[in-house]
Amino acid sequence: MNIGDFEIQAITDGSGTEQAAEIISRFSDAEAWRGHPEEFGHDGRWTFPVGGFLIRGGGRLILVDAGVGPLDEGGYTGGGLPQSLRANGVEPAQVTDVLFTHLHFDHVGWASVEGRAAFPRATYRAHRADWERFVDGPDADERVRRVLLPVAERFELFEGDLDVVPGVVARWTPGHTPGSVVVVVASRGERAVLLGDTVHSVVQLAEDDWTVVWDDDPVAASLMRNTLADEAAERGDLVVAAHFPAQAFGRVVSSGGRRRFVRSTR
Ligand SMILES: [Zn+2]
Ligand SMILES: [Zn+2]
Repeated sequence: MNIGDFEIQAITDGSGTEQAAEIISRFSDAEAWRGHPEEFGHDGRWTFPVGGFLIRGGGRLILVDAGVGPLDEGGYTGGGLPQSLRANGVEPAQVTDVLFTHLHFDHVGWASVEGRAAFPRATYRAHRADWERFVDGPDADERVRRVLLPVAERFELFEGDLDVVPGVVARWTPGHTPGSVVVVVASRGERAVLLGDTVHSVVQLAEDDWTVVWDDDPVAASLMRNTLADEAAERGDLVVAAHFPAQAFGRVVSSGGRRRFVRSTR
């Protein structure tokens, strides 16, 4: 996907599978997934990609999120990220920045491999609130600590928004996690927004009261999701998220007071 002077490519690591009824629902209706067989099938098995995105431009190669890593457990299978990068002509040593939308285990998997940085020349960037929540905090996640602590000195933690390079901004959008950001790429009048996990399923762009159990603060996450979706509809931004089908870009189209996601044909 070309956005002015930038190019954005989906980088796939693997996939995750969950039972929709256990994860995603209306606040008051756990069975609502049945209304969306295109996303959740008829049995409620929800399979989605895990991976990240590569942004080229401004003299940088920015990897946004680092997949789940080389593992096969709990319904999550990863391992394809380095190969996916190479298929796009990029060696791990060429990546200049690894920018994390948040520090959930399925976004940090390739931060390090066997205690060494998987991207040996990159600066790693994450919001400080997520570091405090998932690495340093009392409820830290061992899966996350295992891959991030060996590369702790590579991290530049930020607060609020971060200008990564002119045209690429990590915008603080707490709710899913305290340090969640979306990545806005803007160049020559075009805009794309990498939504991280502020939106898990394209269905959440149409159903404004759906939530997922992974949201740290479900009410704040829901407000943020609807703000971002309305903004994307109004501005005509291209949007994509790590777990959208095929990690494909689309636009949020609003008609008759109802939004929906329309996959881009570009
Ligand atoms: Zn995720
Ligand atoms: Zn997440």
